[in-house]
Amino acid sequence: MIYRDIIIIGGGAAGLMAAIGAGNALRHSGAGKIPESARPLVLEKMPRPGRKIMITGKGRCNFTNFKEWNGFSEHVHPNPRPLRPAFYNLSPEKLTEMLGNAGLETVVERGDRAFPASHRAADVVDTLVRMVRESGAEIRCGEEAVSITVPDTETVLAGNEGNGHFRIECSGGQSYCCRNLIITTGGLSYPASGSTGDGLAWARRNGIAVKSTFPSLTAIVPAGYKAAVSRNLSEDRAISGKSSTGDLKGHIDRSTPLSAKGKALAGIRLKNIGLSVTVDGSTVYDDTGDIDFTDGGLEGPLGFRVSRKCVNAILNGSKVSAHIDLKPAVSQEELEARITRLWQEISEDSRSTGKKYGERFGILLGKLMPRELTAGFLHCNQGTDHKTLARKLKDWKMDIAGYVGYERCVITAGGIDTSAIIPGTMECRKIRGLYFAGEILDLDGDTGGYNLHIAFSTGYLAGQSAAASVIQARAFPSLQV
Ligand SMILES: Cc1cc2nc3c(=O)[nH]c(=O)nc-3n(C[C@H](O)[C@H](O)[C@H](O)COP(=O)(O)OP(=O)(O)OC[C@H]3O[C@@H](n4cnc5c(N)ncnc54)[C@H](O)[C@@H]3O)c2cc1C
Repeated sequence: MIYRDIIIIGGGAAGLMAAIGAGNALRHSGAGKIPESARPLVLEKMPRPGRKIMITGKGRCNFTNFKEWNGFSEHVHPNPRPLRPAFYNLSPEKLTEMLGNAGLETVVERGDRAFPASHRAADVVDTLVRMVRESGAEIRCGEEAVSITVPDTETVLAGNEGNGHFRIECSGGQSYCCRNLIITTGGLSYPASGSTGDGLAWARRNGIAVKSTFPSLTAIVPAGYKAAVSRNLSEDRAISGKSSTGDLKGHIDRSTPLSAKGKALAGIRLKNIGLSVTVDGSTVYDDTGDIDFTDGGLEGPLGFRVSRKCVNAILNGSKVSAHIDLKPAVSQEELEARITRLWQEISEDSRSTGKKYGERFGILLGKLMPRELTAGFLHCNQGTDHKTLARKLKDWKMDIAGYVGYERCVITAGGIDTSAIIPGTMECRKIRGLYFAGEILDLDGDTGGYNLHIAFSTGYLAGQSAAASVIQARAFPSLQV
């Protein structure tokens, strides 16, 4: 059994920053040389730490966002308030300065998004690992925590030396114990990166409130886009509780093959289009931007932005539709007048002589949308002619059948109920000495560096708080177990 004052389970963004926060706080506490038992220890189950950071920002790692709290908090869901103390404790500026002092050059790009200047996520991971080492903390990889035993409350409250320890059993047989345990095991998204929801399952078993989780920043799947889910929506909604394709209602696995409609659309990016979303007929979102049709469904910056609302509504059994406006800069009347003019020109053009209606309509479409979109557009809007085209261009309606799940979503929404945590320390209200930080919490952000900042800032605060408790509780007696 190995004893440490502070153990951190999970060496992702939050866990590495928790180790840095704890290690630096202990180093600067004036306690002199830190004994081995007081060195914060990170247990990471993967062969290397920060595996998910490596895939962030398409390998470029958008590590924070430079907005002030008011602007930043608008991008944090479902309730940003519990994040406030952590944000002010480690602001985007302070985080960037810390990384800079450790040798990482950074740049701020469009939308206040910060990246390593090299645009290499690996440089962020290397810098964090170096910072952990320099803080005096330690990382042990290949250590998967499979069981955690909570000390009984009375011994913790009595501050009983030698008792009141969390005990952690690892899959390789090694056992650890600690007085302060920080759980930073992440959410459920991209399980191949190591995030398999272990901490959430453990919290539930120990009576800690966990809000239902669901995938967010994910592809939403139009009805009929995937071959295996081409049945109609009423049939889909009639399936109560679980969907036929996954545990969550509406989950459509990314690997489900595309239908003919999906194949006609996949690979197309639409720039500066309007997108609104209706839930049971009421508009819940309306904005302009870019969308991508992919092998998953509808995504891209604007698609991701609406995904949280769409997934939530589908889980609640509501009917969700996306409405694409391919011509947001002009009114329907202006567009109708333009189409009438174009149609007349095409009909009067000598090159149209002998051409069938469909061929002339194809020429009209080519003047109004990218060539590669015409097949997919017609697939979705069968029966459209030059008289009804303006309406379809302004309101291309797609019923949404479901969404891609944890296998490929960017973030897990839901998690440890933030009311179970003290926001000023990240300590669990119910179990003293236990802290949670990062994606495991019921805090999720939009794309733009918000999620990594949530992980870094809550991790840093948890680490500092655990160190403060160690410093206050005892002057580093080396405890041999
Ligand atoms: C494709 C993709 C791109 C993204 N891009 C961005 C971006 O550019 N900007 C941004 O802000 N956010 C981005 N995110 C989100 C961001 O990566 C996460 O929000 C963030 O990494 C969460 O950090 P975390 O430390 O809480 O969890 P994680 O990074 O998931 O780390 C959890 C760690 O715990 C370990 N672990 C789990 N269980 C155990 C166990 N039982 N024992 C030991 N170790 C365990 C895991 O192996 C993992 O290393 C992206 C996410 C994805 C999937």
